[in-house]
Amino acid sequence: MNDSDIQQADLDVAGDRIHRLRRSGWCAHPRAVSYLDVPVYVEQQGLRPGQVRCTTGCRTVFADDAAWIRAQNDDPVRLPSS
Ligand SMILES: [Zn+2]
Repeated sequence: MNDSDIQQADLDVAGDRIHRLRRSGWCAHPRAVSYLDVPVYVEQQGLRPGQVRCTTGCRTVFADDAAWIRAQNDDPVRLPSS
């Protein structure tokens, strides 16, 4: 197994976790947008410099990229029931 195989295996595990959580009604924040002076996406509106907003359902605002990355692993958010 070479490095790229190991990286792909890690990504597969992470993707499986995201999908498993999502099926159970939880958001692991796999995608987000960051603050921009002039927002491009509606999800960027209202963000302050450095902040990041999840765009995959929960819309949680994180203080910065590091907080968002930590939350991906440690802090899934319950999605509203539809
Ligand atoms: Zn989220």
